[in-house]
Amino acid sequence: MRILIAEDDEVLSDGLCRSMKQSGYAVDCVKDGQAANTILSGEQPFDLVILDLGLPKVDGFSVLRGLREKNKQVPVIILTARDAEGDRVKGLDLGADDYMVKPFSLPELEARVRALIRRGQCGVNPLFICGMLTFDSVGRRASINGTALELTTREMSVLEALMLRTGWVVSKEQLLERLYSYAEEASNNAIEVYIHRLRKKIEPAGVTIRTIRGLGYVIDSMPASNT
Ligand code: CA
Repeated sequence: MRILIAEDDEVLSDGLCRSMKQSGYAVDCVKDGQAANTILSGEQPFDLVILDLGLPKVDGFSVLRGLREKNKQVPVIILTARDAEGDRVKGLDLGADDYMVKPFSLPELEARVRALIRRGQCGVNPLFICGMLTFDSVGRRASINGTALELTTREMSVLEALMLRTGWVVSKEQLLERLYSYAEEASNNAIEVYIHRLRKKIEPAGVTIRTIRGLGYVIDSMPASNT
């Protein structure tokens, strides 16, 4: 899951960025509306945008309007000042999905982020099953026969990408995209390390991750050994 945070207040932006990363999201941060427009018109899609309305260069309203005019349906949470009821109304009218009034609590914002991402996935079955391995895409939990699997946030992201496309090839580029924001140094070797660790952890479920040379990886249940 990729999140864009557009906020010019350094302290708030850093805090948001840190907490979203800890929750396992790939996070990009921009400090003005122009940079937000640039990154949003790029190739990599975001799953959610946290958008401050009072941004330098181009304000948040314009960023939001631009997004909706291009028919981009990415969920947007706007951040507004305490005494700006008019701004909240205008933001919602322009197509924001939710808003937070500053100052706000991080746990509440995180809960709203989860709710919006869940809504964005509605219609999609949140449970993905492969062999004895179950992946809950809403709760972001993996289990083998009901026993929770202990995974790091990066391992979880790799597993999520593979489970959402069970039986299909997921390229290394797609995995890198999910794991790292633009600012982070991404390495192909890191992906190989995560795949290696995941293979060991999911083996008891009768599931493996096959390497398809030159194409990527595919998660699949292993053929029974006694047949
Ligand atoms: Ca601001």
